[in-house]
Amino acid sequence: MNVSVVLFTSDLRLHDHPPLRAALDGARQVVPLFVRDRAVLDSGFACPNRLAFLADCLRDLDAGLRDRGGRLVVRSGEVVEQVCRVAGAADADEVHLAADVSAYARAREDRLRRALEADGRRLHVHDTVTTAATPGALTPAGSDHFAVFTPYFRHWSDHPLRKVLAAPRTVRVPDGIGSEELPGREGLSGLARGGEREGRARLASWLRDGIASYDTGHDDLAGDATSRLSPHLHFGTLSPVELVHRARKAGRPGAEAFVRQLAWRDFHRQVLAARPAAGDADYRTRHDSWRSEAEAREDVEAWRAGQTGYPLVDAAMRQLRHEGWMHNRGRMLTASFLTKTLYVDWRVGARHFLDLLVDGDLANNQLNWQWTAGTGTDTRPNRVLNPVAQAKRYDPDGAYVRRWVPELAGLEGPFVHEPWRLRGLDRAAVDYPDPIVDLAEGLARFRRARGLD
Ligand code: FAD
Repeated sequence: MNVSVVLFTSDLRLHDHPPLRAALDGARQVVPLFVRDRAVLDSGFACPNRLAFLADCLRDLDAGLRDRGGRLVVRSGEVVEQVCRVAGAADADEVHLAADVSAYARAREDRLRRALEADGRRLHVHDTVTTAATPGALTPAGSDHFAVFTPYFRHWSDHPLRKVLAAPRTVRVPDGIGSEELPGREGLSGLARGGEREGRARLASWLRDGIASYDTGHDDLAGDATSRLSPHLHFGTLSPVELVHRARKAGRPGAEAFVRQLAWRDFHRQVLAARPAAGDADYRTRHDSWRSEAEAREDVEAWRAGQTGYPLVDAAMRQLRHEGWMHNRGRMLTASFLTKTLYVDWRVGARHFLDLLVDGDLANNQLNWQWTAGTGTDTRPNRVLNPVAQAKRYDPDGAYVRRWVPELAGLEGPFVHEPWRLRGLDRAAVDYPDPIVDLAEGLARFRRARGLD
């Protein structure tokens, strides 16, 4: 066989890349292709922070291919049309692609298969490129997916991992296949940099210096002691299979706790693969009659702006706005606050996160929002996180709040988490809002709505 096309999507790397390896093994020349999918760009899913990170990833992928004698071909438009066009121009026999889980990606894959077959070409879809375990490969008796994490994790842990593939030494790309210019980067100043090299460097330093204290430090908000690999996993600049292998091999104390989080990522993917509607509809309805954005406009605006009067909630929301990223503990608290304390529809919050998160990911974002709202896979769907108790536990010195809410930076001791306890002139000197909701009232509203009282 002479030529194959590799269509890169959210797998923007050269190391441990089964589609690229299969294409190189089967053909003399390969066209590495990325299509800037107009449907995604027009859908509102393509937020500036992710586009900036993507631009870094594409530049780095192109540079890595050039080091190996190749280059990246970039096109824009309708994906199926563009792939067929490139495959036709290169006279390719086959196209290789990583499997994906969203309803959109799967419909796109079906359309691509049919269009290629009509032209006499074949589509090969490869598993374990964007997940460690294939969605649907692990199932409990009588169901097509696991709805509870703990038994899933037991099966996942026993499941053999495939071997890690080395990056290719050379990639020969046929002449005469035109490419657009690579997109430029415009994003927040605090935004992480993308690209496989950046991801691999971050992984190496994480395994050397970070992972050992993951088990004990991952909930310490000010310590910022998680890997921050999530955007690299979202864009596929790092392979989840390689991550699991290397974390286990590192043999450090925090390795299993870290690997467990990677299993959470696979868990949500297998839920979304089996229930694509869960991207937008309740996975398990609790018959909520949520307040809509219009009904709760002022509360939603205060939440988005980090002006709720609850310092830890506000700190986390401001971190999101500044960095396009938020600590997991902050995500859980801010999502619980919006859905349970303010009783606002989880989709309003999930949309805001997707508008800003550099790691914004349909499976992880929507299903974590559902988990927190109690409409997802949490086995304790009615738990409500208290922002003051959470602050005392996960930001005991107030360092995280002081970092992100500078108005409160000068406050002593407990006042940093409860500024409403200040009196008189001290209070007047702090330019910070009163709480927008009384926690007890918010809790009572939620319990009534869920029929718990
Ligand atoms: P680490 O703690 O270092 O974990 C390593 C990796 O494990 C992460 O990069 C991630 O890929 C995976 N992981 C960790 N926690 C989870 C989890 N709870 N569920 C699934 N995978 C996990 N993660 C996203 O990648 N994209 C999102 O859009 C997203 N939205 C979220 C929304 C809400 C409301 C909540 C509660 C969580 C969300 N998460 C999301 C999960 C988690 O918060 C982030 O993956 C994590 O904070 C990323 O930081 P890290 O890479 O330092 O994580």
